Amino acid sequence: MNYQVGVISGDGIGPEVVREAKKVLDKVGQVFGHTFSYDEILMGGVSIDATGMPLTEEAIAQAQKADAVLMGSIGGNTSTSPWYQLPPQLRPEAGLLKLRKSLNLFANLRPAYLYGELKEACPLRDDIIGDGFDMMIMRELTGGLYFGNRVTEERDGVLTAEDTLTYNENEIRRIAKRGFDIARKRRKKVTSVDKANVLDSSRLWRKVVEEVAKDYPDVALEHMLVDNCAMQLVKDPGQFDVILTENMFGDILSDEASMVTGSIGMLSSASLNDTKFGLYEPSGGSAPDIAGKGIANPIATILSAAMMLRYSFDLDREADAVERAVQQVLKENYRTIDIMPQEEKKASVTQVGTAKMGDLIAERIK
Ligand code: NAD
Repeated sequence: MNYQVGVISGDGIGPEVVREAKKVLDKVGQVFGHTFSYDEILMGGVSIDATGMPLTEEAIAQAQKADAVLMGSIGGNTSTSPWYQLPPQLRPEAGLLKLRKSLNLFANLRPAYLYGELKEACPLRDDIIGDGFDMMIMRELTGGLYFGNRVTEERDGVLTAEDTLTYNENEIRRIAKRGFDIARKRRKKVTSVDKANVLDSSRLWRKVVEEVAKDYPDVALEHMLVDNCAMQLVKDPGQFDVILTENMFGDILSDEASMVTGSIGMLSSASLNDTKFGLYEPSGGSAPDIAGKGIANPIATILSAAMMLRYSFDLDREADAVERAVQQVLKENYRTIDIMPQEEKKASVTQVGTAKMGDLIAERIK
């Protein structure tokens, strides 16, 4: 079958890591008999340079036509890049927010998985790591505080800022269903995270999640307050399967979860809507500090492509093959610079650059 993949290479290390993900997809195509056609879409700093806008209507239309979109990353050095002299709505990140909104990408999935081979990159103690952990953070992406009304104004002579956190039951229901569906394909446990002891929006969240849970009697549901969840992630990360939460809590918790795995260069993500369409991208940014040096870790982008195979194209076998190939390369002790072990163990591994890592993974797809 032929799949149309929109490709946003973007800025910084984006084009370098996307090149490797395409290499791996092409190998999947050869081995399993599919073809992937790519349509380059401009977004972020490169789009500002070419069109004056971080995302044009034409680019949105291209993304809408694709079966799924694979993205590198966008943005530059926020202190020195001229893109950050522009008004906020013209900066690179505005393009991504607009794309998410235009495509109605309300569900963000971020796996946090600790590879046995990279155990020593994990900052947690051995007794806490135990047998490792494998969780999926499901974050609501188009509602809540980041999309509510906001204003800064003088009130009675005092400068005052106000942000609004709004959720309706439909927004909660659709993300909750997605969370339970994903849990069903995993270890069948959902931890719904809120602040129901304080916030009305959280009390509604909890009520709707409980209603949805009735349709999934095979999935265990527990509720956890967000402050406790922040602690539990470093105290006992192995207890989590799917963490289901609203936009801001998910933003913070998913970064925390990714740090306990040790390297940002390993972490994939997906943003999904009501259909099979999704936007797949590494969790990290454009890493301007290492851009152009050929040393960025492409694994997060390659694993994002695997998520695309699984969630947008229903190609589970092919996704498994990519994930196995990544594991195999780690087992054979190949590492990019960001996942190199401590000095004393360096001799036991082989350091490789971005393109070589892509080659090694592609060669092991079978
Ligand atoms: P960053 O994730 O780009 O970099 C943080 C650190 O992690 C850097 O030292 C970088 O070298 C390293 N790193 C990140 N990805 C790596 C990889 N694949 N391999 C090896 N090392 C890697 O975060 P930042 O420096 O805060 O942001 C840089 C730019 O990226 C900013 O403009 C920011 O707005 C943007 N950004 C974009 C996205 C996105 O495109 N979705 C997400 C986050 C940040």
